[in-house]
Amino acid sequence: MSPSLSGHVLIVDLAKLPAQGLILETAIGPAELALPEDGQLSITAPVQVRGRLTKVMEQVYFHGSICGTVAAPCSRCLESVDDGFEVEVRGVFLPSGSPRLSDDDAVVTDALDVYSHDGSRINLYPLVRDQVVMAFPVQTLCREDCAGLCQACGANLNEQPCACEIESGDPRFAVLKQLKSPDLT
Ligand SMILES: [Zn+2]
Ligand SMILES: [Zn+2]
Repeated sequence: MSPSLSGHVLIVDLAKLPAQGLILETAIGPAELALPEDGQLSITAPVQVRGRLTKVMEQVYFHGSICGTVAAPCSRCLESVDDGFEVEVRGVFLPSGSPRLSDDDAVVTDALDVYSHDGSRINLYPLVRDQVVMAFPVQTLCREDCAGLCQACGANLNEQPCACEIESGDPRFAVLKQLKSPDLT
């Protein structure tokens, strides 16, 4: 496969979808995935996509899993942390403009992520992108007992205690002191 086609690993020709279904097993690099820029979170390694595409009449079902690694800043010390994720995915692709997207099938499609296809090809990129974005961690800790940053000088307290901590003693008291003394300036 030429490099110019490598961006199409998640686009499947409907005509090539065999009756027994198609096993899809591939990996998409961060550049191909082209996630919306968040500034803080980023995909640093290829995202693995595995699953089966099954065609039933004009509907194509995808059942599989998506896993990868997202780099996110630790919520306390801001160090970059690699966070692994793996999500199970159930999606259905309906012909675009299909009336099945509304009314009666709402109950059925409730448990499925619904996408559309153009009658000739299935594009799994939107599905994979959605799943990866949803898998992004809300909060990340580099470790359970991360000491975080010093409120006063910004030093990373995981590396070494800073001077202010030695002066003011327990940093929790420093916080209390700040809370108690109103700003008189
Ligand atoms: Zn941390
Ligand atoms: Zn400090």
